[in-house]
Amino acid sequence: MLKLENVSKFYYNKGVITSGFTKVNLEFKIGEFVVITGESGSGKSTLLNVISGLDSYEEGEMYINGKETSHYTEKDFEDYRRKYIANIFQSFNLVNSYTVYQNVELVLLLNGYKKHEVKKKILEIIEQVGLTKFKNTKVSKLSGGQKQRVAIARAMVKDTPIIVADEPTGNLDSKSASEVIEILKKVAKDKLVIIVTHNIEQVERYATRIIKMNDGRIIENNEIKKIEEKEIKRSHYNNISIFNKYRLGFRNTFNIATKFLLLFIVFLFISSAMLAEYASFQMSEAEIVDTGYSIAFRDLSENRILINKNNRKFFTTDDYNKIKQIPNVDYIVEDDIFLDSGTALSRNDYSLYGYLQEISNFKGNIDVGRMPEKENEIILQIRKDHYLIKEQLNEVLNKTYSVLKTVGINAYSNEKIKDLIIVGIQYSYENNYDIKFYVSKSVLNDLRNQMNKNYSKMKVFFNNKYQQYAVEPNDKVKKGEAIVDDDFKYEYNYYRIIGKPLNIYVSNTYYNDELDLTISNTYTKYNFERRTGLENYDSNRYTIYINKDEYNSLYNKPSYQSSVFVKNVDEIDDTVNELEKLGLSAKKVTDFKINEGQTYQIIIKIIKVVVTIILIAVLFFISYLIIRIILKSRNIYYTTLRMLGATYKTVRRILDIELFINSTLSYGTLLLFSYLVKTNIIHLEYIAKLSNFLSLREYVLMYIILVLMSRLISRKFARKLFKNTAINTYKEEV
Ligand code: ADP
Ligand code: MG
Repeated sequence: MLKLENVSKFYYNKGVITSGFTKVNLEFKIGEFVVITGESGSGKSTLLNVISGLDSYEEGEMYINGKETSHYTEKDFEDYRRKYIANIFQSFNLVNSYTVYQNVELVLLLNGYKKHEVKKKILEIIEQVGLTKFKNTKVSKLSGGQKQRVAIARAMVKDTPIIVADEPTGNLDSKSASEVIEILKKVAKDKLVIIVTHNIEQVERYATRIIKMNDGRIIENNEIKKIEEKEIKRSHYNNISIFNKYRLGFRNTFNIATKFLLLFIVFLFISSAMLAEYASFQMSEAEIVDTGYSIAFRDLSENRILINKNNRKFFTTDDYNKIKQIPNVDYIVEDDIFLDSGTALSRNDYSLYGYLQEISNFKGNIDVGRMPEKENEIILQIRKDHYLIKEQLNEVLNKTYSVLKTVGINAYSNEKIKDLIIVGIQYSYENNYDIKFYVSKSVLNDLRNQMNKNYSKMKVFFNNKYQQYAVEPNDKVKKGEAIVDDDFKYEYNYYRIIGKPLNIYVSNTYYNDELDLTISNTYTKYNFERRTGLENYDSNRYTIYINKDEYNSLYNKPSYQSSVFVKNVDEIDDTVNELEKLGLSAKKVTDFKINEGQTYQIIIKIIKVVVTIILIAVLFFISYLIIRIILKSRNIYYTTLRMLGATYKTVRRILDIELFINSTLSYGTLLLFSYLVKTNIIHLEYIAKLSNFLSLREYVLMYIILVLMSRLISRKFARKLFKNTAINTYKEEV
C-alpha cells in the first residue's frame, strides 16, 4: 500500500543543510501495526510527516497504491491526506475551545458531511473511547489521557486506511498511556497504524513490525508477524458545505470571549474613526459654504427658494395652497423679508437681536418652558451654549420684551412698538449663534408694515416737483387730506397752498402705491399742538401729516415675495421647475451667493478624498496588525483545520464569516450608539453635531468598506497560513 524507495528529506536553513532522514526503504501493508523507535533527533517525526503528506521529500520515490508521488503538488497531497491519513500528535492538536463532540464533529464537517447524518456515528465513537460522560465538556478541561482519546476518536471517525501517531503517549502517565494504546490496537484491525514511541514494552504485544532509526537511517526493520495485504477502503470526502462553513464561522465568533471582545473593540475603533473623520470633513465643508455671503439675503440656507409672481402681483392663499401641493416643499415663509432683516427685542437695557419666523413653521419640541397660547407669546430658538442660556436664562424666560422700531435695515430706534413674552425655548443646532423668534401670524402682520417701510422709498409730489419730505401718520388728519408746515408757502412762492393737491408715492422692489391728497391746513410753531395733537414742533423738518389709516395702507400689503423651503436639497432643482410651472419666478437663494470660499472648497474636497483614502489605508494596516496579533493565538486552530483537510478557501471563508459577524455586530453597536446620541437619549453635543453630517448613504458606504476590509484581512491571514507546508506552519507555532 505504501512504499518508500531511497527517500531522503533535507532541511535548508539559512544556507545550512540538515538531514531529516536519508535513503529510507520501507514497505507497509494495510493491517500492519508498525512501531517506530529511536533516539530523539533520529528522524522519526520527519519520516511520519513525509508519510502523512504533511511534509515534502527531496530524494527517492514514495509510492501510494503503486503510484509515484514525487511530482505531487500541494493540492495532490491534500487530496491524499483527506482520503488516506488520520494523524495523532503528541501534543493532541485539538481545538481547546470546542467540546469533545465538536472536536470530533469538526473533521467530518470539514470533509463535507452534514451535521445531522454524523451525530450517531460521533456518539458511538465517543463511547468507544470512553468519553460519553464528557461529550459536552470543553477539551481545555480534560486531562492529557482524555485529550489523547479525543484525538484518537477524531482519527477514527474519519475512517481512513492509515493512522499515523507520533508519540501519542509521550505526554501521558503510564496508566493513560496503556489505555490509549489499547484503544489504538482496537482501531487498527483493518488499518495500517504507524506509531512512534519510546516505550517499546507498551506496544510490543501488538506490533507486527518494529523499526529502529538512528541518525536519519533505518537500522532495524523487523517484521514480527506477516500480514496479508488487505483490500483498502479509502475514505470518501466532499468539500465542506457552505452551511457548515457558516456554522463554524459562527461558532468561532463567540467561542473565546476575550478574542471576541478584542476584535469587537478593534472594529469599533476602525468604524468610529472612519465615520468621525468623514463627518468632520463634511462639517468643515459645510462651514466653508456658510462663509459665502450675499448683499441682499442673509438666510442662505441651501433649501431656500425665493418666489415671486411673474405679473408682480401679491400672493394669495390660493397660491400658497398650490405650492404646498408640491411634495418636496417643507414649508413656506410668506413674509420672507423677515428671514433677511433682523428684529430687536428689548427689555430694560437689554436687547436680543434675531429673526422672526411664523409660529406655524415651528418644528420639534420645546426644551424649556412651553408652547405659546396667546398672540403675544413667543418661542426663542437659540444655541444651548449661547451665553444667554448659560448665564442669563432668568432674564429671558417668561419676560416681556418690546419690539424696537427699525430705522433701516438692522438699525433700531428706541421706540417700542409691540410687547412680546418669551414663554418657550428650543435649542438650535445651527453653526451660527443667530436667534430665531417664533411669533404669531398677527404679530408678524403688524411688524410687516414697518419692514415694508424700511424697504420702500417715499416721495411727495407737490407743485409739479418730487420732493423728499418726512411724512407721518396722524390721528387728527382726515382721509384724503394733509396738513403741512406753513413755511411751505415760501418754498413754492404760493400764498395760498390750502386746497392744493399733494401726491404721495411709495415704491419698493415689489410694488408701487400712491395717495391723492389735498392740503387741508397748515401749522405753525404756535398752533402745532392744536392741529396735530403732538408736542414738539421742529422748525427744520417740514413734516407732512396725513391720516393714520391711509398712511398704514401704503405699507400694509400682502406678500410679494415669499420663500419656499424644501425637504430634500438634492431635488431642489426639480422643485424650482415645478414652481415655475405654477407661473412663478423661482430662484434658489444660493444662486445669489457670492462665495469667495469656492477654491478652498475644491481644495478641501481633494484633501478630503486623499485623507480619507490614506486614513482607510492606515487604519487597514493598523487593524491588520492588531487583528493578526489577536488571530495569532488562532494559528494553531487554523493549522489544525488544515491538517484535518480544510483547504485555503475553506479557512479563508470560515475566517471571513467570523470577522463579518464580529464587524457587523460592532458596527451595529456604533449605529445604535449614534442613534441614542442623535435622539438625545445620550447627551454628547459634539457627537450629535457630527452625526448630523452623516446620511444613510454614508453609513451604508462605511459598512461596505468595513466588510471589504475584514475580507481583505482574512484573505491576507489565510494566505500567510498556507504559504508554508502544513507541518512547518504548525512547528512555527508550537
Ligand atoms: P525525532 O522525531 O526522531 O526526535 P525529528 O524528525 O524531529 O527527530 O528530527 C530529525 C532531524 O531533523 C533532527 O536532526 C532535527 O534537528 C532535524 N529537523 C527537524 N525538523 C527540522 C526543521 N524544521 N528544520 C531543520 N531541521 C529540522
Ligand atoms: Mg519527534
